[in-house]
Amino acid sequence: MNQYNAYEVPQNAGMRNSSLSGYNGHMEPLTKNELIALFKDEAPRDLSIPDLGGVDWAILDYFGWISDAGNLGFVVIPIGDELEALKMRRSLSASRKPKTHMCSWCHHVYRGQGTALFSCDVAGSDGRRIIGHHLCRHLDCSLRIRNLASDPPSFMPETIPLSQKIRRLENSVFTFMHRTNQMGSLKH
Ligand SMILES: [Zn+2]
Repeated sequence: MNQYNAYEVPQNAGMRNSSLSGYNGHMEPLTKNELIALFKDEAPRDLSIPDLGGVDWAILDYFGWISDAGNLGFVVIPIGDELEALKMRRSLSASRKPKTHMCSWCHHVYRGQGTALFSCDVAGSDGRRIIGHHLCRHLDCSLRIRNLASDPPSFMPETIPLSQKIRRLENSVFTFMHRTNQMGSLKH
């Protein structure tokens, strides 16, 4: 859960260091060709790259989208001056029970359906090791932490500043990527 509070900001949270990009959600706009290059193992048509014209890059900490079929999620995040990219499998919960679910990356708490399980094979494990996180089902954590999503705000609002939420989000994405052992394999 939330390991930070308003008065205690870990200087080395996660594995990032001070030379990295900062934490104000400054994603540079990406083009379709850049995204295709980042996911070079995928056929471009399988990427379901959304229309990039309407993307407000200035408020994104990472760029995430869901495949047309709904079974894959893609994430691109700037780390230092590199872009890291990750493809995940996505499965929605079949349960219709009213439960609260928290996104492991942005800590948004949904009442009912709002998260999906995103998982990856750990590279080099021949599929024997899989890691997964329950995340915002549309990979829209950046909107959630800024309260820009149109559906209800977090069921358990936090009082920490946005800058800390951004840093925590970036660290969570980075840590997840690191655990997949896929860091650096998809650089352009
Ligand atoms: Zn989230």
